[in-house]
Amino acid sequence: MHSTRLILLGPPGVGKGTQANFLVKEYCIPKISTGDMFREAISKKTALGKTAQEFIQQGKLVPDDAVIQMVHQRLKNADCKKGFILDGFPRTLVQAKALSEIIPIDGVISLMVDEQELIQRLEGRRTCVGCTKMFHATFSPPKKDNVCDDCGGELVQRQDDYRETIQKRFVEYRNLTKPLLKYYEEQKLLKEVNGLGTPEEIFERLLLILKQPS
Ligand code: ADP
Ligand code: ZN
Repeated sequence: MHSTRLILLGPPGVGKGTQANFLVKEYCIPKISTGDMFREAISKKTALGKTAQEFIQQGKLVPDDAVIQMVHQRLKNADCKKGFILDGFPRTLVQAKALSEIIPIDGVISLMVDEQELIQRLEGRRTCVGCTKMFHATFSPPKKDNVCDDCGGELVQRQDDYRETIQKRFVEYRNLTKPLLKYYEEQKLLKEVNGLGTPEEIFERLLLILKQPS
């Protein structure tokens, strides 16, 4: 049996979302991106969206309770039966422990790239408002300025990709999320993937590692 309940772990901007989108196609399972879910709640101006926005704008993590409740609901959905890819969750030990009580996980992929490289990537990052596809102003520009190649949607810079906020997100990552690497390593679930290269190259590495017997 191969792994289908997966977690993608890694620092901000490492390309979790891009790799998650590849995995969706490969395994026909849904991507559960807490970042995307919050951005949707914010655009719909729901109560959750209002709470989330305050934290996200400051580069802080959204409080555990709110995140856990949202993911718990989402995992009850029938489309998760064959598996799922968690992108951006869990991000704290409290979240990881809560998840372990909801459902067992088959594998945790840790995408690694050094921090200086990531800061450059985040500053140039542009996101499609239509389909969440990522572009980069310098490294992977769209064919037409500010327009998504795939869906024609408008490309915007996320508020939390502003320079000062990026620094704060790394502080949160180091303090709260990094400890998860050790946590999952101890459970023998961690698989490390080098996150430098083209998205396709990284995905090839990722598939090789997933297909290795553990
Ligand atoms: P990143 O590019 O940092 O991976 P995401 O799109 O995953 O960004 O998340 C954007 C923001 O949403 C985070 O900086 C954080 O404030 C909030 N967020 C997303 N997932 C979580 C989570 N599991 N716990 C707490 N906050 C979260
Ligand atoms: Zn698009």
